[in-house]
Amino acid sequence: MGILYTHLILPLVEPERHAGLPGRLRQIKKFDRLPERQQRKIQQDRLRKLLEHAYTTVPFYRRQFDAAGFHPREARVDHPLPLPVLTRSDLRTAATWLVSSAFPAEKLRVALSGATDRMPVRFHRDIEGVRDKVALKMKLDEWAGFQAGDSAMMLWGATSDPAREFNWRWRVYEGVFMRQTPPPPGVVGIDVLEKWRWRYEKQRPRILCGRATVLAVFAAYLRERGVTHRPQAVISTAEVLSVPHRRLLSSVFKTAPFNYYGRRDVGMIAAECSEHEGLHFHPWGSFVEFDPIGQSPDGPVYRLLVTDLLNYGQPFIRFDTGDCVTLTEQSCSCGRWFPLAGKIVGRIEDGAVFANGNLVPDITFIDPLNPSKAPLHPVLALPEKRKRPVNRNRQNKRAMSA
Ligand SMILES: [Zn+2]
Repeated sequence: MGILYTHLILPLVEPERHAGLPGRLRQIKKFDRLPERQQRKIQQDRLRKLLEHAYTTVPFYRRQFDAAGFHPREARVDHPLPLPVLTRSDLRTAATWLVSSAFPAEKLRVALSGATDRMPVRFHRDIEGVRDKVALKMKLDEWAGFQAGDSAMMLWGATSDPAREFNWRWRVYEGVFMRQTPPPPGVVGIDVLEKWRWRYEKQRPRILCGRATVLAVFAAYLRERGVTHRPQAVISTAEVLSVPHRRLLSSVFKTAPFNYYGRRDVGMIAAECSEHEGLHFHPWGSFVEFDPIGQSPDGPVYRLLVTDLLNYGQPFIRFDTGDCVTLTEQSCSCGRWFPLAGKIVGRIEDGAVFANGNLVPDITFIDPLNPSKAPLHPVLALPEKRKRPVNRNRQNKRAMSA
């Protein structure tokens, strides 16, 4: 099924995102088979190439590199880049100064940062970068055993593009060609859970994928209703997958969930392998830096800085994601050397549960409800000790699953 989809159906049905997909997948597969030393060398070459491109075609970076006395050929993947971080504020204020002059407008695609941003930011990607990101995500999906064309049920709950929800062409594309069932966004109450259960039992998906909070609520509901279908893989993304949620998903679906790390601005860049020992940041897609910022009960905490190696349209260099991670001491049993984060601990894009029990996924409260006015270091107020508003999801989720 996978090759038929990746080599024929997807490039034909949606060339915008899948043109050249077989070649892109081959490149990553070839990279994956190389020894560590060569992979590091390739990552360094790709990093320097991106920085060189940024220096010559992006005014914002030319000024910044010159001010730092830095030249792209000095970049090394075993050292932090001696450059300032790129902030969301930079994305807003610098705007077109961050876009590469190497691309005509028709080769660029505009996107918006996460729906949870108080002020979502517009950014650009070149079309080849978009396609490379799709290919990388497919390779990461393979770690969970998810092949293109597998029957998959998606539980996003919220969407960045509500127009898709009402677009029959999009629904045909996702339902028929991608074999994916995206449920409608919005408030997840009992009526929605019941519709999802019906669809889940009818479709019997091989893959169940969604936001951690939504998956957890759905899992608790399925258990309560005695539903017996078990997907081959459960994939959690877009939110922190807490230990209680991980336990709940493992218990209900009889399989350990795969955690992903991705963002709208840099795409899917990390995933768990079958060993479930942490999140691997794939070096084909990004160069990540871990900037120490404090301590937590789980050990030192690092701010995650990402240099996106796939987007040449608007380079993201040392982008401050606002997410914080812990690192694992040991390397993963799978043998990959790829940077390994133990946990993403600081994401604030959790769902919210209101007094009537309804879940609204992907919500970040703004002032005065949000206790973290400075989301740059949300991890410094860790979940167990963090003062949460009374109706945030964690304690309510306990009540819902009790
Ligand atoms: Zn691994």
